[in-house]
Amino acid sequence: MKNTGILNGYYHAESDVAEAALRPRSLKDFKGQKRLKENLSVFIKAARERKEAIDHIFLSGPPGLGKTTLAGIAACEMGTEFKATSAPALEKPKDLAGLLTTLKEGSIFFIDEIHRLKPAIEEMLYVAMEDFELDWVIGQGPSARSIRIPLSPFTLIGATTKAGQVASPLYNRFGITFRINFYERQDIVSIILRSAKILKVKIDDDAVDLLSLCSRGTPRVANRLLKRIRDFAQVMGDGVVTKEIVNLSLERLGIDRYGLEQHDREILKVIIEKYNGGPVGAETLAISVGEPIESLEDFYEPYLIQRGFLKRTPRGRVVTPAAYRHLGLRIRDEDQRSLF
Ligand code: ADP
Repeated sequence: MKNTGILNGYYHAESDVAEAALRPRSLKDFKGQKRLKENLSVFIKAARERKEAIDHIFLSGPPGLGKTTLAGIAACEMGTEFKATSAPALEKPKDLAGLLTTLKEGSIFFIDEIHRLKPAIEEMLYVAMEDFELDWVIGQGPSARSIRIPLSPFTLIGATTKAGQVASPLYNRFGITFRINFYERQDIVSIILRSAKILKVKIDDDAVDLLSLCSRGTPRVANRLLKRIRDFAQVMGDGVVTKEIVNLSLERLGIDRYGLEQHDREILKVIIEKYNGGPVGAETLAISVGEPIESLEDFYEPYLIQRGFLKRTPRGRVVTPAAYRHLGLRIRDEDQRSLF
């Protein structure tokens, strides 16, 4: 699959190792999301006092906002082991069974992209979550029989970018649900300052301010951008990240004041130029912009919607007058109907 744009946080592979160094390990270091943190710390404290596994947790929100990080923090704060997988990696029931049977009492078991579980695996998970048992079928045909294997009480943390696609029997088995939203600018500032300290990057206040503006309210984007700008500061300056270096880097990377990349602007332009501003269905749009529908819906759209450049309507995607203004385009007569 294609991974356009350096900031696209959708496909994790590229810099998982580098990301690890910046990943907060405690709630104290996890910036922003105040209410979520306060509640989570109460649930963790209560479970610890009772010496029980914390209830299953459901985390939803766009990529790069800290779902995996929070799951790891929950394990650290509970003082338990952390096992992680993702739904697409679980192909057969035995893949899930193999992981569940190795969990210890109180282990945190993290499943990313939980909306993509296969039905047979989801069924198995229901029993595991509710009864801490594994339903296992031995043999085939008429002689097949099912046995129940006991499991250690564990905590499942399921994360998804698409809460709406999670079947309700699964969703209802989570005792704690959190939605993570884009970060406030001030929280992104704190994240940049923390990361700069860890990476030993000298950065001016003005530069932090500008960088926070272009980080899409997303910690992963802020961190990646900081690393790229550090490169520019090193090669084209004296190593210090100044406002001028940030401006130069953004220009070179094709990122504008709103944090939009070339590809974001292309998406808006395609809707305007090919579909008169919309509405256009997500599948058609994905094909037109050469992007897998998942990355269009999970990475690009949430931010464009949050910034007020795009709307999801029952008839399809529609750009807003703000998108025309941002791109310096005129609203034509044929566009008007869909826009107002
Ligand atoms: P998700 O699982 O939602 O895609 P991650 O948990 O992988 O997102 O977060 C991406 C990166 O962003 C992490 O490596 C971490 O360094 C950083 N990050 C996320 N949330 C925070 C936060 N609240 N405070 C500081 N850094 C964060």
